Amino acid sequence: MLARALIRRRQAVTTLAAPSRARSTRSRALLDELGAGAVAAEGVGRARGSSKNAFVRATTANGNETLASAGDGGSTSSASSSSTTSGGIMVSAAHPSSHPQVLAVPLPRRPLMPGIIMPVKVTDEKLIAELEDMRNRGQAYVGAFLMRSEGSSSSSAAGKEEDAFDALTKRTVASVGLDGEEEEGADPSDHMHDIGTFAQVHNIVRLPADSPNGEESATLLLLGHRRLRKLGTMKRDPLVVQVEHLKDEKFDANDDIIKATTNEVVATIKDLLKTNPLHKETLQYFAQNFNDFQDPPKLADLGASMCSADDAQLQRVLELLSVKDRLDATLELLKKEVEIGKLQADIGKKVEDKISGDQRRYFLMEQLKSIKKELGMERDDKTALIEKFTKRFEPKRKSVPEETVKVIDEELQKLSGLEPSSSEFNVTRNYLEWLTSLPWGVCGDEKLDIAHAQEVLDADHYGLEDVKDRILEFIAVGQLLGTTQGKIITMVGPPGVGKTSIGQSIAKALGRKFYRFSVGGMSDVAEIKGHRRTYVGAMPGKLIQCLKSTGVCNPVVLIDEIDKLGRGYQGDPASALLELLDPEQNGTFLDHYLDVPVDLSKVLFVCTANVLDTIPGPLLDRMEVVRLSGYITDEKVQIARTYLEKAAKGKSGLSDFDATITDEAMSKLIGDYCREAGVRNLQKHLEKVYRKVALKVARAKSTDTTLDPIVIDVDDLVDYVGQPPFQTDRIYDETPPGVVTGLAWTAMGGSTLYIECTSVESGEGKGSLKTTGQLGDVMKESSAIAHTFTRGFLQSKDPGNDFLQKTSLHVHVPAGATPKDGPSAGVTITTSLLSLAMDKPVKPNLAMTGELTLTGRVLPVGGIKEKTIAARRSGVKTIIFPQGNKKDYDELSEDIREGLEACFVSTYDEVYRHALDWDR
Ligand code: ADP
Repeated sequence: MLARALIRRRQAVTTLAAPSRARSTRSRALLDELGAGAVAAEGVGRARGSSKNAFVRATTANGNETLASAGDGGSTSSASSSSTTSGGIMVSAAHPSSHPQVLAVPLPRRPLMPGIIMPVKVTDEKLIAELEDMRNRGQAYVGAFLMRSEGSSSSSAAGKEEDAFDALTKRTVASVGLDGEEEEGADPSDHMHDIGTFAQVHNIVRLPADSPNGEESATLLLLGHRRLRKLGTMKRDPLVVQVEHLKDEKFDANDDIIKATTNEVVATIKDLLKTNPLHKETLQYFAQNFNDFQDPPKLADLGASMCSADDAQLQRVLELLSVKDRLDATLELLKKEVEIGKLQADIGKKVEDKISGDQRRYFLMEQLKSIKKELGMERDDKTALIEKFTKRFEPKRKSVPEETVKVIDEELQKLSGLEPSSSEFNVTRNYLEWLTSLPWGVCGDEKLDIAHAQEVLDADHYGLEDVKDRILEFIAVGQLLGTTQGKIITMVGPPGVGKTSIGQSIAKALGRKFYRFSVGGMSDVAEIKGHRRTYVGAMPGKLIQCLKSTGVCNPVVLIDEIDKLGRGYQGDPASALLELLDPEQNGTFLDHYLDVPVDLSKVLFVCTANVLDTIPGPLLDRMEVVRLSGYITDEKVQIARTYLEKAAKGKSGLSDFDATITDEAMSKLIGDYCREAGVRNLQKHLEKVYRKVALKVARAKSTDTTLDPIVIDVDDLVDYVGQPPFQTDRIYDETPPGVVTGLAWTAMGGSTLYIECTSVESGEGKGSLKTTGQLGDVMKESSAIAHTFTRGFLQSKDPGNDFLQKTSLHVHVPAGATPKDGPSAGVTITTSLLSLAMDKPVKPNLAMTGELTLTGRVLPVGGIKEKTIAARRSGVKTIIFPQGNKKDYDELSEDIREGLEACFVSTYDEVYRHALDWDR
């Protein structure tokens, strides 16, 4: 394509037949445009003595003739006359014979290819003067030689080639001396390559002396004509060398290989043009003015001049007189150039892609912003944020404490001055997000209606009268006062008795929002009091989160498992809770994150715990404790029938299906499978039963059989829930001497336990006592007290019985997995020792509890209700309680006490009578 275009262009030029003026003006313009770049120009103008010879193609079909034809008639006079006619670049090739010696111009980089125009900087003042002188006399011709690179130079001048060049010119000046006489020494022309280019000086432009040492310099515009070999130095300062003008070796223009190589060079130049537009101009110019595409040696020179190869490679091309070799070398350089060009284009494209991608995104974002603004959809982020916060905060402004208002205003101010991408902006934004979304005195509506509350509470829970009463009282006080204050109610009881679920019902009864969190195992104070804002990812504590999520300042907050509060290295969460739960302090609760006081005094706190022992004293002091003991069988039946069964059926998708559990089966389920204090296990068992029923129903449905109503009786239970688990609380049907049933109160509720005593060995002075069964310190002390007391007591009851003095005893409390501690086993241990010593079993179905002093007094203990329930569960008929617990027992409801005989004692003597002396 390109070749064709070029040919067309050439034809056009020929037909226009404007060889001289028109072309020269255009070429000058192009030259100006290309500036300092190497410009291809026809190497040799055909002089023929004509004054209009500028830019006339010089070559014939055979390149060999170039020199001869270029040479004829070329003279300084004709050249100078032509310069006056055209005013453009003069191309006139002086005959070799007229230039056996030439001024040597050193080229710091890139050799000058014949046919090419190249600017060269010269700093040698004498050389410049001489050149100017020559030009004034007519045409100036020089020999341009590439400086040898450092490695190949005989000069010791180090550094860059330009430095070498400077050094050379200086040395040349120095070595010539003042009188101009030649001095012995190295040939100054050694620093140049031997093969150079015979060149015409077109222009000499003096440059202002800007170098620090004030050296003169000038730029020469050289047009290469033909190859030269330097033979020797004729004169120094300026350097004049003897030269031999070289001709290209003869070649056969019709040789296939030459043709093919030539074509390939043209094709490669074409390729090169695709990637490098600068070359395009060069070539266009070349093609417009000359027709060298059929002239292989010229083409090779042109191709080489287009390459960015290093000086050595270009010099090699210059030195090759064999046309074929030169074409090959050029082709190699061109191919490399094309590769580099591709790589360059690739890199350029990548960079461009990236830049344009980024720019595109930027423009699109800007556009989006302005579109949004235009449509009023969104103000810019910051303004929108500030507006949001202000809008949220304004309605509350009046109820917010003054100092908090100040903080919020300051923060809003700060936010407006911050850069949205800064981290500070985010911190402030989050802080404002919290500050503005807290309720700040906004209370939720409250239902202070006793009847309604009673209804709601009863609807969800059976029994639990203490808790329900407490809530009703709370409402009553609120009604009378016209306002409610926060309270802290703590429910203590075994698992599964409904502590958590009634918390929820309380909120429902009062019409308040509900929030629950568990502090079991919590060891980090920050969970309650928040992190300081300086921490990355800082958050307020649970209470502030609660206020935000409920949006009111008077929710019911259930703090679960308060007895299992952890204690970590990050401070003591119990103390933090203290601040929260102390009615004196929680009006101005200070969260670390929020840093402004928050009023929590309207919050109704409900805490749950299994035991009270582990709740820190000061915390316990601020709570109202409501005890929930476990349920007896009748209560469980009630709960199961009214609440759990319905829920379990519903969960299994059996609400509409007729499936029932008979009363007997229910009693067995409760009595044999779910004997613990709470009803969670019962709930699980009922769910299990109904899941199995659901499977049956689903199977029947899939086979399209109609199913009769399912009735689950005692015998079916094994199918539904398996065999009843082994019950450890009744090991003995009848207790042997030395074994007594005690009553204990643990985190799981009340339970019966056996205290076993047996003799290990006997002998004079062997009386001792050993205890096992996970007993704590208090219980071990109780054993020691019991042992001492029993010795004395036995003497009074059975004088002469020296069993205790002579026998080493072992007391054990089975159920070794459960840690047991507390003083309430005192009377039980004593009784077991006595029973063994007297070899007399205690009254059947008897259980006892009570602390014993060394003098035999029986002191009251805790957990009477739990113990009573546990005793009943284990089939105990008679219980011995300390006299001090009579009031507790009397408070128990009738159904718990039903069928039980309670004996109240204040001294051990009475215990003895009930337990060991009962049959008298
Ligand atoms: P806790 O918090 O005491 O361990 P939960 O409150 O989780 O126990 O109660 C366990 C389950 O037993 C809940 O589904 C609850 O509804 C049920 N439950 C407990 N006590 C009663 C009750 N008195 N009446 C009705 N359901 C109860």
